[in-house]
Amino acid sequence: MRTAKRIEKLPPYLFVGITKKIAEKRAQGVDVISFAIGDPDIPTPDHIIDRLCEAARDPVNHRYPETDGLPELRQTIADWYHKRFGLKLDSDKEILPLIGSKEGIGHMSFCFIDQDDLALVPDPGYPVYSMSTILAGGEPHYLPLTEENNFLPDLASVPTRVAEKSKILWINYPNNPTAAVADLDFFEQSVTFAKRYDLLVCHDAPYTEVAFDGYRPISLLQAPGAMEVGVEFHSFSKTYNMTGWRIGMAVGNATAINALMRMKSNLDSGINQAIQQMAIAAFNGPQDCIAKNNAIYQKRRDKVIETLNKIGLKANPPKASLYVWARIPEGYTSADYATKLIDEAGVVVTPGTGYGDAGEGYIRLSLTIPDDRLEEGLARLEKL
Ligand SMILES: *Cc1c(COP(=O)(O)O)cnc(C)c1O
Repeated sequence: MRTAKRIEKLPPYLFVGITKKIAEKRAQGVDVISFAIGDPDIPTPDHIIDRLCEAARDPVNHRYPETDGLPELRQTIADWYHKRFGLKLDSDKEILPLIGSKEGIGHMSFCFIDQDDLALVPDPGYPVYSMSTILAGGEPHYLPLTEENNFLPDLASVPTRVAEKSKILWINYPNNPTAAVADLDFFEQSVTFAKRYDLLVCHDAPYTEVAFDGYRPISLLQAPGAMEVGVEFHSFSKTYNMTGWRIGMAVGNATAINALMRMKSNLDSGINQAIQQMAIAAFNGPQDCIAKNNAIYQKRRDKVIETLNKIGLKANPPKASLYVWARIPEGYTSADYATKLIDEAGVVVTPGTGYGDAGEGYIRLSLTIPDDRLEEGLARLEKL
């Protein structure tokens, strides 16, 4: 059998390797505690599940959905963006529900990247930006996120020739894996850059509602002119503990949204309508679940930071996201250090290099682990 070259070009998905390593250790009888995967451990709120159960019994939801989702869902998303960010969006032209934001991120590359085009991709970064670029025949040009620059890409340092060949600038704040946040000034710079080089800026923003200490992340689309050159990907996954249900959205520039809709209409047949009803219930229902979740994550964050600092790893408490990005001691690579933790403490963390070469020197710990396991894991790190 001869698979396409684009498949051969793909490295294995980051977590496949980690999952294998965990399975090996468990098979040896080790009680493994994993801080590796960012997937909320807290269940989806009851009122959202109730809506699913009810919608599942309605035969209207047993048939093919439309690619662009229920008009009521698009309107609900428009209302939420208005309430949350003060933005007025056209629910027919500037909003597209997705089968999880990862799906839309991947397909957006196919809408903009032709053979040999470049995409500007953060390093470290969520792997889908670079992998979908490669699948579409293009090449990622990595922009390092460094601590000195507050884990923001230095757009001024992108060579003109590279910027001119680039079709997409990918950004992601609150950031995975560094937990960094961006302010309006950075989003304005991104918009200016995108206009100057005629490219699309894609902001991946699933963590705007996962924030601590009263901090409120903003939307790219709040930057003046962003609607002309920008799209934002958002999701129900992290806000409402809905990763398993697969629903998210793209909002922003109508031309880009329409391109994504046309691409998707040829590849998928939309989102299960009962799940669209869950999303509507999530946005329209009580919102106290968000504050409750964030209080849990914030407590975990503080415990993790305290332990890391005690054992000599440098980490600042993040203002948002589900992650702690910690500097490891001198003399180790990220991979060596992660291996040491699993071998000597049965604790799994993600090596920073799993997200790109510029992640060297760091590990990522996820806060989506039940309190008792988190405490046990931290106790083991302290002992080490
Ligand atoms: C979790 C995550 C997503 C994916 O969200 P889904 O809507 O569940 O597909 C996208 N981007 C980043 C950076 C994430 O961490």
